[in-house]
Amino acid sequence: MFTAVEGIFLLLKTIFKWFGANDDKMKWLAKAADELHAKGWAREKIIMDLDEMQNDRLEKQVRALMVEKKSQLEPMRLSAQSYEVPEIIDVDVDMKTQGKYLTKSGNARGLVVHYTAGRMENGDKDAINTVKSMAKRGLGCLVMSSTGKIFKSKDQGLNEVAWHAGKSSWKGKTGISRYCMGMEICCPGKLDENGKAWFGTVYNNSRDVKAEANRKAGKYAKFSPEQEKSLIDFCLWQLDVNPEFDIDWICGHDEIAPARKSDPGGSLNWAMPAFRWIIKDKFSKGI
Ligand SMILES: [Zn+2]
Repeated sequence: MFTAVEGIFLLLKTIFKWFGANDDKMKWLAKAADELHAKGWAREKIIMDLDEMQNDRLEKQVRALMVEKKSQLEPMRLSAQSYEVPEIIDVDVDMKTQGKYLTKSGNARGLVVHYTAGRMENGDKDAINTVKSMAKRGLGCLVMSSTGKIFKSKDQGLNEVAWHAGKSSWKGKTGISRYCMGMEICCPGKLDENGKAWFGTVYNNSRDVKAEANRKAGKYAKFSPEQEKSLIDFCLWQLDVNPEFDIDWICGHDEIAPARKSDPGGSLNWAMPAFRWIIKDKFSKGI
């Protein structure tokens, strides 16, 4: 059964989605969302709901309202039970180290999310092959299989730079490989309008997205639920163990090199700003 506030929220959302609304009207929706949150709706659920509307203005207003409220709460560290430490497996391949990250502690400040634009149907094998083929080209980073397991070269520590971002910039810095780890997620990524990947296979697990935030419009193969869970776990784990790690430095390749790149785009269930918001929310609540 819907309560009155839920009813108002859903009705406003539908009307504004189809007919548009000015800033003042959007504030009504933001208020309704805020009340729902006060009544116990998870922030994540509200944001995901609003994310469907693909409206940046609205997302900003809702966030401003909710973040304002959140800042009045006590900050909370996660407990070790809050997430599963992702499984990271060494692959027997040689990688030349590029030294430590350009941060005070030498640890990574964030994570760049990529897709491999390759196959995902062969499980861990796809990831191991990617680690090997990247190493041959002098590239390296973490590679996640469709099962959510993470692979890397045996020679590369988590606090060692590897090339993955190319020419890139974020928050006033350039050459983002020197600041952030990279996570290549096994997935064909952008597809043509018939769902066909560049290597010819048709994927039915696709998502059509409009241009929004980092996302370029089009059809994308979806990351698996195991991959999305593992990505979230990885970020929460880094926040817990790596004091350098900053949520605002969890970024998409398509955010730090927007003219050249479209990963992760619509392969990830959320646009990158919403993804960071979810991590922030989980982190502050200690889920
Ligand atoms: Zn990439």
